[in-house]
Amino acid sequence: MIDLHTHSTASDGTLTPSRLAEQANEAGLTALALTDHDTVAGIDEFMAGCRQAGIEGIPGVEFSASWYGGSLHLVGLFIDHFNGPLRELLEEIRRHRARRNETMVAKLNEAGAAITLEELKQEAGGEVVGRPHVAEILVRKRFCPDRKTAFDRWIGTGCPAYVRRFLPLPEDVIGRIHGAGGIAVMAHPFGNPHGETRAKVRKTLKYLAELGLDGVEVYYSDHSPEETADAMMLAREFSLAPSGGSDFHGRTMPGMELGRGRGNLRIADDLLAGLKARAAVWKNRA
Ligand code: AMP
Ligand code: ZN
Ligand code: FE
Ligand code: FE
Repeated sequence: MIDLHTHSTASDGTLTPSRLAEQANEAGLTALALTDHDTVAGIDEFMAGCRQAGIEGIPGVEFSASWYGGSLHLVGLFIDHFNGPLRELLEEIRRHRARRNETMVAKLNEAGAAITLEELKQEAGGEVVGRPHVAEILVRKRFCPDRKTAFDRWIGTGCPAYVRRFLPLPEDVIGRIHGAGGIAVMAHPFGNPHGETRAKVRKTLKYLAELGLDGVEVYYSDHSPEETADAMMLAREFSLAPSGGSDFHGRTMPGMELGRGRGNLRIADDLLAGLKARAAVWKNRA
């Protein structure tokens, strides 16, 4: 079994990249991808950790791209994380995040939640600082009872301290991933929060496939058996390689376990062959 979508302390996960590798080995996984949001800072430690643990490490990253006023998520797998243009886009995204965080903290203070930029940076620890970290602080300082309420009352879309952030276009993200010899996979195709209709997912995948999308997460923690079957049919229809991951974040997202998701997730090793065949195409061109 494998897991091709996980987060570490380099973004908003709670395990360090090397701990993640160890834990994957303990869970019986044979291959693991680290796909932190907007950074590749954890990859070197992660690859060393995987070698140490005796499992196959796959360098990855997760981007949010703009989509009809909202966003969709694209995971890059088998990337060369030293690639210049890939790193430049990630840096641009993080620069915009830094400015957005200043505005968000100012708005929170105005609205009555006293938090500081210093606290926020400390909470994040790494170079990617965002709303999941703000939510942790709001809960800890008792401005709200839980993470969900933090988004519902303070920082979710339309809330008093909501600030939009810069999102690259899907075609730019896919292009940078390919340029770095990696494959672009649509993450959680049924949405985040989960719940898009099959018809809408089909339209999105059709469009992304025309832009060069390589794969789609058929197996995902929140998928019902029907959604998994639908995603597999759509993958076939648009010639996309099926992928799968838990979206493990550690203790901030309880119930999403490494490799196991909410208990029933099983991602077979043999998906790797199809994904690697796609990656070979881009590696040859990069
Ligand atoms: P950011 O990239 O800083 O805008 O933060 C986005 C992340 O916040 C997403 O990847 C989710 O993990 C989390 N998130 C966004 N909206 C919600 C929500 N309504 N409830 C809980 N978590 C959310
Ligand atoms: Zn996350
Ligand atoms: Fe995501
Ligand atoms: Fe994720």
